[in-house]
Amino acid sequence: MVDVFGHNREQNVAKTALALMGEVGVVATPDNFELFYAYTSGENPALAQVMAAFIKSKKPFTAEILTDLRLRCLSGARTAMAMESVGGNIETLIADMLSKLETSARDTADYKDTLSAATGELGGERSPADVRKLVEGLISATRAMEHRAKSLEGELQASSQQVSELRDKLADVRKESLTDPLTCIANRKAFDEAARSAVAAVMDEEEEVALLLCDIDHFKNFNDTWGHQTGDQVLRLVAACLSENVKGRDTAARYGGEEFAVLLRSTSLEAATRVANQIRTTVEHKKLVKKSTGDVLGTITISIGVAQIGRGETIDAVVRRADACLYGAKHNGRNLVVNQIDARMAALETSAA
Ligand code: GH3
Ligand code: MG
Ligand code: MG
Repeated sequence: MVDVFGHNREQNVAKTALALMGEVGVVATPDNFELFYAYTSGENPALAQVMAAFIKSKKPFTAEILTDLRLRCLSGARTAMAMESVGGNIETLIADMLSKLETSARDTADYKDTLSAATGELGGERSPADVRKLVEGLISATRAMEHRAKSLEGELQASSQQVSELRDKLADVRKESLTDPLTCIANRKAFDEAARSAVAAVMDEEEEVALLLCDIDHFKNFNDTWGHQTGDQVLRLVAACLSENVKGRDTAARYGGEEFAVLLRSTSLEAATRVANQIRTTVEHKKLVKKSTGDVLGTITISIGVAQIGRGETIDAVVRRADACLYGAKHNGRNLVVNQIDARMAALETSAA
């Protein structure tokens, strides 16, 4: 049968996910299934990298590990759900306000009709008793209108309160969608936004902007020795060192698994190289202690590539150049900063030619 809707693929992914859960001893709860389904579908590269490394390590998937993976790697889905709920609330609120305003418009029209009718009736010959009756009718219609206007005002005030609550909630959702849940610094999406505006500033205002790409040295060994959760603590620590060393309009972001990117606004290549070295030494001087046991874990180091955004250049091209510099730093022994005009880069290019 032709599989128009891709159901076969979904079924296969689901089957593979369940089989894998059985193999690694994970209970088939809906939450766990969601995680393993996302992994086997191959549509979440961040999850794929971390899960593959974890499965390879043959360590047990404890409840903490599973929660942690969900929190870190399925956050996009969570944000989308939160957005949907905010969107739904706004729709209901608008429909509600519109219907109240429609009712109020109808009431006002009725009141206008009452007044016009009264004007007509006043034109003819009227006894004092008739006039009194008419005035009494007008007073009661006016009172009713006044009452309805007051209650509408109250309702609109409540709605405006709800609108501002929704606006705050929306701001929270947006912040969450731009934050890496593990390290609490900017995520890749936030980096992409910041990079777009940096590229525009270089083009339009000739602002100098530098990009640092940082990668933890021998992180795989670290994970293999001390475990993934301790590895995660290191990621948080490196992120904190980055935040400590950047300011103002700069952006420090988690770029991928154990890679970080920093955009330094209004900064020359030379100054950016100094900042990079500052970050590198801050990380190097942190003493790592395993929280649960007090074990001293030694030190961790990072290598950094530094590139400057050229006018009219795409961010991809700058990232490639910073990445080449990062490779130069790794190649020259790690725990190093290499920028795009470093002699060690020229040496690399000559040896590659
Ligand atoms: P190099 O000095 O050349 O960078 O060596 P490396 O071991 O750091 O490089 P490699 O790219 O081989 O390994 C990166 C490792 O980072 C693999 C993966 O286990 C780990 N990693 C990636 N993302 C995460 C994460 O979110 N948490 C933890 N704990 N580890 C991660
Ligand atoms: Mg790496
Ligand atoms: Mg690394």
